[in-house]
Amino acid sequence: MMSYDNENIFSKILKGEIPCDKVYEDENVLCFKDINPIAKIHVLIIPKDKYISFNDFVANASSEKISYFFKTVEKIAKKLNVVDSGYRIITNHGMDANQEVPHFHLHLLGKENLGGIKYQ
Ligand code: 5GP
Repeated sequence: MMSYDNENIFSKILKGEIPCDKVYEDENVLCFKDINPIAKIHVLIIPKDKYISFNDFVANASSEKISYFFKTVEKIAKKLNVVDSGYRIITNHGMDANQEVPHFHLHLLGKENLGGIKYQ
């Protein structure tokens, strides 16, 4: 099984080794703008704990951490003012999804109609 790579780009962001455009932060969760946005709002939401992917996170994190993470996603959606207008959440797990960064993250997209956008 793959082990967590401490040198992945989001780990470096968490360590403060590279900058990010921060949207929200607390002791467990960080949200920042995607460097290559595909919608008017395109942020990445990550737990600070070391999980490789969504699958790793839900399989191995505590129920409390999982619940806290998803409650925080809703808080961030509220902060971004997309609850009424709508938003899309995407997460890529593993090879067939072409996951690029091996630290679990959700993409949150919004502030425009996403009907025609395919995530690749
Ligand atoms: P994945 O394919 O792993 O789900 O998506 C990785 C995402 O991370 C991509 O949308 C890409 O634009 C974004 N990304 C890659 N490197 C950086 C970076 O250094 N900073 C930020 N803010 N986003 C990044």
